[in-house]
Amino acid sequence: MRELLQSIIPNLGDEACDKFVAYYELLIDWNTRMNLTAITEPTDVAKKHFYDSLAALPYLSDGTRIADVGTGAGFPAIPLLIMNPRLKITLVDSLQKRLTFLEEVLKTLGLSAEIVHARAEDFGRDPNYRAKFDATVSRAVASLPVLLELTVPLLKVGGKAYCYKGDVSEELPTAKNALHLLHCTAEAVPVESDYGARTLVICTKNAPTPSTYPRKAGLPSKKPL
Ligand code: SAM
Repeated sequence: MRELLQSIIPNLGDEACDKFVAYYELLIDWNTRMNLTAITEPTDVAKKHFYDSLAALPYLSDGTRIADVGTGAGFPAIPLLIMNPRLKITLVDSLQKRLTFLEEVLKTLGLSAEIVHARAEDFGRDPNYRAKFDATVSRAVASLPVLLELTVPLLKVGGKAYCYKGDVSEELPTAKNALHLLHCTAEAVPVESDYGARTLVICTKNAPTPSTYPRKAGLPSKKPL
């Protein structure tokens, strides 16, 4: 795993490499007791989870306050935090079991992040979190119109939602109405990968989110904007 990671992730220091190895071991161990990931082969985990999670790293400077909405087993937040422990990350998921795993990951890796058990719809209405983040990151959580309703309310004006996606040629046009209603603009940045098309959709919040969004839990996915 060490050599594999060093060949895949540019400028990977020894300490970060140790943390990725420990994260891999925890992921495989806990995955025997709970459903964390279908991807378990070392090469696949290194590429499709670890390397893939780093797509937004160049955009996130020290101290950036970030919410990983629908973090699951910690992607993309934990790899981003391993590479830059100065990021201020909040991990959000509606499934408590996965958050228990993440508590163990943070403890073992000696990293710190806030963990919040919540539906993104409720989290985005909580005054402690609404409009408080510089950035959100999300991977494999929902289609773009749904994801924008879950993440944009969390951003300060000028903040950015980094949506990890595959080929967005069909999905991006479906987000036109959501972008308009949530006062956002989007740019699709292709990401280098040898395992299929990967795209980082970067959405910028240009004005405050109307108080009607996010709608109550379940509605964003039932009736996407
Ligand atoms: N981001 C991780 C990744 O890339 O591997 C996990 C992806 S998993 C397919 C989707 C995760 O999003 C699950 O852990 C699920 O519990 C969480 N999720 C889905 N909808 C959510 C919502 N409305 N609020 C909070 N978490 C949500």
